[in-house]
Amino acid sequence: MGSNNDMSEHELLKKTSEVFGNRPVATGPNLLNSAWKILEKEHGFESEKTLFIQSTCPDEVNRTMGKSVGNFPFMNDDIFHFGGLAGIPQSGRVGLGACCSHIPEGGRVVVLFGPHIGMTSDGTVAKVKRRGISTPSTSCGAAVGACNILCGANFDINDDSVQGVAKAGMNEQMMSVINTCKRCSDNEDVKKKVSDIEDKLANFTAQLYHGIESTLEQDLILNSDNNVPDKASPACKVPFAFIGGIQVNTDHGVMDDIFVPMQFELWTPPDSEGGEVTRKSLDVEKLCASAGPGPVFRG
Ligand SMILES: [Zn+2]
Repeated sequence: MGSNNDMSEHELLKKTSEVFGNRPVATGPNLLNSAWKILEKEHGFESEKTLFIQSTCPDEVNRTMGKSVGNFPFMNDDIFHFGGLAGIPQSGRVGLGACCSHIPEGGRVVVLFGPHIGMTSDGTVAKVKRRGISTPSTSCGAAVGACNILCGANFDINDDSVQGVAKAGMNEQMMSVINTCKRCSDNEDVKKKVSDIEDKLANFTAQLYHGIESTLEQDLILNSDNNVPDKASPACKVPFAFIGGIQVNTDHGVMDDIFVPMQFELWTPPDSEGGEVTRKSLDVEKLCASAGPGPVFRG
């Protein structure tokens, strides 16, 4: 049940935008529908010839985004899940080789990626009320866990808290989350990009977004030397569209999740003469503005 402090949908959208430095936001399904319409009408994407790749955290709260997107016909049951805990692209080069061999003939790829964070109806950041559980719980548990470890005094990779995670075994994904977050928190460019986000956990999540972006795009997809099974970068062969951002989980049954888009980009392969992949930024403001029906807040 809700309480008197609960916000309306519009207020939650507004609050999310404020928490993330007044960036534009929209509900996730509306935003994905809008992105697809732009890709279809303006850039020649066809649903039957598109492979959808998702690098998001496997947490069940994230699944609503794909399920409720009616105009994304290929997406609902037909997603290559690339992400591990916190949305880190854990499938790696072998996974990339596999999913790229599944691209329909003459087709293209849409990649949705990013971390997630909760926002309860009373505006508590990094918490969410889950189905059947009355007390809010942490979201994203892996990212907040990594933040707690990294933000401890005198962080050391050999510290007991990290070594405990490592030594317990079967925690490879969590170690990868910690390492990615550590790289981001040591990177001045990343910290500068998100310096307008004051909330500690929202800022940490935005840093993590940039870590996922660089791992996925630079280390995996653009790096043409080591991809398996085919050595050439898949982006040299087919067009890719990237929708990157932060998914904000709202309390169960309240409203669709909110999405803070950080990147909407189209990559075009080089022509037959060779050359480089062309990267074109599409307008995230326009994307959010066209993400109707439903409340949209533009910061
Ligand atoms: Zn998570």
